[in-house]
Formats: sequence, structure tokens, C-alpha cells
Amino acid sequence: MSIAMILAKSGRTVHIFEKRKIDDFLDVNFSVKVGYNLVVTNRAYKIWERALPNALDIIKKYSVPSSGMFMHAGKTLLKTIKYSPLEPNPMVIPRNGLVTGLYECAKQFENITFHFDHYLESVDFEHRIVKFSHPSGEKSVSGGRVYACDGANSKFRRQYLAYPNSGFTCPMNQSKVLIRVLHSQKPEKELTDSWGEPGIHFALNTTMPFLCASNADFSFKILTPIIMNSPAYNELFTETPTDQQVQRLKELTQEFLPTFPCKIPDSEFRKWFKRQYFRRIYTWPNKMNVDDWAVMLGDAVHAMDPIGGQGCNSSVADVGVLHDMAEELGWENPELFGKFSDKRLPDIQTFQRAIYEMGEFMFSTNSIVRLFGILQFAGTMLICGSCCKPCFGAPFMQSMLEESSESLGSKAIRHNCQVFAVKMMVMTILVSLIAFMLFHII
Ligand SMILES: Cc1cc2nc3c(=O)[nH]c(=O)nc-3n(C[C@H](O)[C@H](O)[C@H](O)COP(=O)(O)OP(=O)(O)OC[C@H]3O[C@@H](n4cnc5c(N)ncnc54)[C@H](O)[C@@H]3O)c2cc1C
Repeated sequence: MSIAMILAKSGRTVHIFEKRKIDDFLDVNFSVKVGYNLVVTNRAYKIWERALPNALDIIKKYSVPSSGMFMHAGKTLLKTIKYSPLEPNPMVIPRNGLVTGLYECAKQFENITFHFDHYLESVDFEHRIVKFSHPSGEKSVSGGRVYACDGANSKFRRQYLAYPNSGFTCPMNQSKVLIRVLHSQKPEKELTDSWGEPGIHFALNTTMPFLCASNADFSFKILTPIIMNSPAYNELFTETPTDQQVQRLKELTQEFLPTFPCKIPDSEFRKWFKRQYFRRIYTWPNKMNVDDWAVMLGDAVHAMDPIGGQGCNSSVADVGVLHDMAEELGWENPELFGKFSDKRLPDIQTFQRAIYEMGEFMFSTNSIVRLFGILQFAGTMLICGSCCKPCFGAPFMQSMLEESSESLGSKAIRHNCQVFAVKMMVMTILVSLIAFMLFHII
């Protein structure tokens, strides 16, 4: 919808085809049903405001301003990472809340038409025809340019990959993280303790991380990222849990969220096993441009792990980069998509790689590697936090979240340097300790 609004603002007629029915699309309540919550920042705000000056006022109705990230370990609030230098504040918003807000914005443009319940079935790249199925029959669309934003499992991307003359390649990695929503509820007591501030609360532990995100009605949504193929979680991969398995999930929750302010009903633990997983796929395409006729944007070309909290912001940022280039070259310029792809892809992929590597350690199925990843992450946050220009770890993600003239790729390179320095430091300490112990034993 972001690209649709920018195009509409520049006077183009836009048709949005969406596979979901309108009721599903706009199902905004804070129940578990509507999925996960996002942190959205001024990297995205600026693009929406370019299209519609009051966009943020509309979208904010479904969000809460996020004051930061809060790291809990057992009963202790380990660290608070405030977003305070970021202006305006990032917001936490349920995915469908954002969709609903953007829909309200898009409806203000007469030249945008929505077509719900239209599933993209196939693409004829030779004749430039896109085919959708709809309860009333198949519909073929041609004659315009296509902006393919159909998410991480993009059918458009898969069709292009299967097209023999495309020269398109797209290796993929599956992230080791699966995410399921456990619960959403208003706290039972007045929040004056460590849960009092809206934002993203992480329960850090070496077994099963929990994420608790504020909703716009100040209830909490619990997300449980679990690690695929890890022996520790194998027992949780079933849709028909036994009483022991339900009990195990309950115990993990109590162990890692001992101070969580809501009492989670027993029925929620059982339902959790049947809920949809959100899984993340990393795609590494060699281009975003589709024969100068279409362009792939967002998760369709650069899906990434949710732990970075960057997928949505980066998808909207694609639109900003494309808009800037279109202002210079013209929207109808046949070279636009090719030049955009050449500029944007290396930048976003350097960034994706940094998040990928961080996740590979932190969510490794090997507990020693995972511990190393967590130490490295915490070390970067603590050591570089006080002395270096902010990056992922210092403070966590702040630099990624804020809008600046520095490209994402160069921020990612800076992050990698910080991580490397901390890795060396951790290894030197470990080797010195071992040498010291050996020396004393001998
Ligand atoms: C648990 C979790 C937490 C996250 N947290 C954050 C965060 O904090 N911050 C952040 O920036 N990002 C976050 N993300 C990532 C973010 O959700 C995505 O990057 C973002 O939604 C991508 O937007 P998109 O428009 O490219 O794709 P999507 O949001 O996936 O939208 C694709 C649309 O295309 C439609 N569609 C798909 N296939 C078809 C078809 N064949 N025909 C017609 N329509 C179709 C879908 O119904 C959907 O409406 C998170 C993701 C997860 C899973």
C-alpha cells in the first residue's frame, strides 16, 4: 500500500490485488488471531507522510508509542534500551493494525482501487499478463507496470524463477526460528514495575526466548520464537499435544516469565500447539527488476528474520529509494527498475547478511554456539554501547531503526566490525583463562 500511495500521489491509477477477503484483511483486534506485532519507525513514517501528510495520525490509532526494549532475565530487569533519541518515537503495532491504518490512508486516494479475494495464480512474462483467481472466475490483467509485493513466499518471485529466459536466480535459506503467538491479554494489575512501559520486552534465557509486545489497548501479546530442529523443542512440535507437553510449555513460560503481569489461562497453552507458525525465509535474488516491466519489493525479495525488527521498515524504505529515483528519472523510464535494483540490492543484502549471521549464532541448535552468540550479542551491546557510534548492539538496533543519510549496508558493515572486535575480545579472555588455569594446574 505504501508504493500504491506514492504512485497515486504522482497521479497514476493503481489497482491493488489482494488474496485475502476484506474482513480478514482488516481484522484488527488485539487477539492472538491477528498475528504478531511490529516495531515501526521513522524510516517508514517518512515515506507514508510523503504520500499523505496525515498518514501517521491515522496509523497511530492502532499503535502504542514504544519507549524502548526491555531485557528481562528471570525476575530481574537486566537492561532497558530507550529509544529516546529517536524522534518521533517508534511504535509497536499489530500487523493487521498497520494494514488497517494504511488501508484508511489508501482509501483517501480516488485513483487507488482494491480488488480483494484475488489470488495471484500465474504470470505470463512473455506477454506481460498477470492472472488472478477469484470466486467469480479467473481474471487476466495487462497493460501496466507491476509492483510485486506479495510477501516472503511471493508467487510472483516463484513464477519468475520458473520462467526460462529470466536470468533470475534466488537462493534461499530457511531461518531456524519459528514464531507462534501464545497469548494476548490486559495486565491484571496497575503496571508500575518493570513491565510498566510499552515496547518490546524480551525474556532472555538460553532455552526459549519469549517476546512480549505491547498492543494499542495496552494489553500484551506474547510471541514465542522457537528454534527448529533443536532437540530441546522437539517435543513441542506437535498439533495434538499430550497433557505433559502442554504442562512443559506452561512450565517454560512460568520459568522464563516469572513476573509477567497476566495470568495466562490453561486453555491458551493447549491452543498454542495448533496456532500458525510464522517462519522466516532469507532470499538472495540477483535482481529486483523484472525485465523493466515489473519490480519486486519488500519481503518478496528480501525477507529476513523477525529478530532484526527490520522487515517492514526495510520494505517501506524500498519505496522511498524507488520514489527518489523516479523523481529523477521519471516513473515511465524503462531504465528505472534496473537502476533501482542495482542500487538497492547490494545495500539491503549486506544488511540482511548481518542480521542472518547474528541469528545463526543466537538461534543455533547447538547450545554452546547459542551461548557464544548471546554472549557476543550482549558483549557488543555492553562494550560498544558506551564507546562506539551506535549500531545493532549499541544500543540494540537503534541505528537501524533511525532514518539517516548513512546507508543500511554501511551500518551493517560497522555492526560487523563491532561484533568482530567483541568476538576477538571474548576469545582472548577465554584463551587467557584457559592458559591461566592450565598453568596453575601444571
Ligand atoms: C513474528 C514477526 C515479527 C516481525 N516484527 C517486525 C518488526 O518489529 N519490524 C519490522 O519492520 N518488521 C517485522 N517483521 C517483518 C514484517 O512483517 C515484514 O517484513 C513485512 O510485513 C513485509 O511486508 P510486505 O508488504 O513485503 O509483505 P507482507 O506483509 O507479507 O504482505 C504481502 C501481502 O500479499 C498478499 N499475498 C500474498 N500472496 C498473494 C497472492 N498469491 N495473491 C494475492 N495476494 C497475495 C498477502 O495476503 C499480504 O497481504 C516481523 C515478522 C514476523 C513474522
